[in-house]
Amino acid sequence: MIAAETKAVATRGFATHGPEAKFEAFEFTRREVGANDILIDIEYCGICHSDIHMAKNEWAAFMPTVYPLVPGHEIVGRVSQVGDSVTKFKVGDAAGIGCFVDSCGECPSCAGGNEHYCFKQAAYTYGGTEMDRVTPTYGGYSNKYVIDEHYAHTIAAAGDLSGVAPLLCAGITTYSPLRRFNVGPGQKVGIVGLGGLGHMGVKIARAMGAEVTVFSTSPAKEADARALGADNFVVTTDPENLTPLAGTFNLILDTVSADHDINPLLGCLSINGVLAVVGLPHSPANIHHAALIMGNKTLAGSLIGGIPETQEMLDFCAEHNITADIEVITPGQIEEAYDRTVKSDVRYRFVIDMR
Ligand code: NAP
Ligand code: ZN
Repeated sequence: MIAAETKAVATRGFATHGPEAKFEAFEFTRREVGANDILIDIEYCGICHSDIHMAKNEWAAFMPTVYPLVPGHEIVGRVSQVGDSVTKFKVGDAAGIGCFVDSCGECPSCAGGNEHYCFKQAAYTYGGTEMDRVTPTYGGYSNKYVIDEHYAHTIAAAGDLSGVAPLLCAGITTYSPLRRFNVGPGQKVGIVGLGGLGHMGVKIARAMGAEVTVFSTSPAKEADARALGADNFVVTTDPENLTPLAGTFNLILDTVSADHDINPLLGCLSINGVLAVVGLPHSPANIHHAALIMGNKTLAGSLIGGIPETQEMLDFCAEHNITADIEVITPGQIEEAYDRTVKSDVRYRFVIDMR
C-alpha cells in the first residue's frame, strides 16, 4: 500500500473551483506509470475555447462541469519515463496529448480508430473520469501526465514545441472535416471565425489546395487572414457582403464559439455543398428545412478526430510546415487570455508555458 502510494506521480496544476472563480495552484497525483504508460513532462498547453466553456459551465445542458477543473487538451512535452511494455516512445521523445486519454478499445468505434466516438464514451483528458468512471481526469494546465502510449502522439518536430500544442485539438478538429469532405484543388472552402480553430482551418485547407475565404466579424483581422493563406475575406456583420457569395462554396467550416445565425451560411453553399459545424455555442440552431432541401445541401457536425487521424494530421502539418500562430503566456495570465479569447482578440491561440 505504502509502496504504491509513493509511486503515484505528484503533479502541480492550476484549477478553477467554480464558474466565476479564478485559477489557483492545485496539487494532485497522477497514477503510477503502468506497463503500457508513459509519463510526459508537460512543456506547453494550448487554451481552447472549450476550456472556457467548461470552466464557466457554459455546457451545463449536456456536459455539466465538475469542479475542481484543471482544463487543457492541447498538450505537448517530453517523455520522462516509460513502462516496461512501451514500444512507441523512449525517454526524451516529444509527445502530445489531445482531447481524450483512454477508451474501451473494443467497440466498433475504437476498433476503427474512432476512439473519440467510443460506445462506452472515451475518457476525456480533463473534466471527465478515467474508464473506471470514478477517477477524475485533470488536464494539461499542469506539469505532468501519465497516459497509455496508444493515446499519446509522436511529434516529429525537433525544437520548440509551443506552436505544435494547438494542433492536438484545433488542428485535428479542422483537419478531420476538411479530409472527410475531400477538400482539394478546385474547391472553394469557407472558414467561419478566425480564432484558434479557424486559423488552423485556413492553413490546412490552403495546404490541401483549396481556395479559402474567411468569414469574420473582425475587419481588423483581414491582413492576418491573408497572411495565413486566405484568398478572400468577408466581414459578416453586414449581411449585404454575403449576397455576392450566394451558391458558391463546396464546404463551409463553422468554428464560431458564440450563438449566431447559420442560415446566411447555408445560403452561400453551392448545390451539394456542406456546412460542417465544429464550433459549439450554447443555443440550438434555428434553420428552415428548405435551406437544405433547395440545393441538396448537407449540414454536418464533427468532433475532434481519432488517434490514427490525429497522427495523420500531425504528420501532414510537419510535412507542410504548419504550426499554430501563438502567444505564449504564464499560468498567471490565464484569466486575461480567457477574457481576450471571449472578445475574439486571440491571435490566434494562447499557449501556457508549463515548464
Ligand atoms: P476562439 O479562438 O475563441 O475563436 C472563435 C472565433 O469565433 C472568434 O475568434 C471570432 O472570430 C468568432 N466569433 C466569436 N463570437 C462570434 C459571434 N458572436 N458571431 C460570429 N462569430 C463570432 O475559439 P476556438 O478555440 O477556435 O473554438 C471555437 C469553438 O469550437 C468553441 O465553441 C469550441 O468549444 C469549439 N470546439 C469544438 C471542437 C469539436 O471537436 N467540434 C473542438 C474544439 C473546439 P472572428 O473575430 O473572425 O469573427
Ligand atoms: Zn479543444
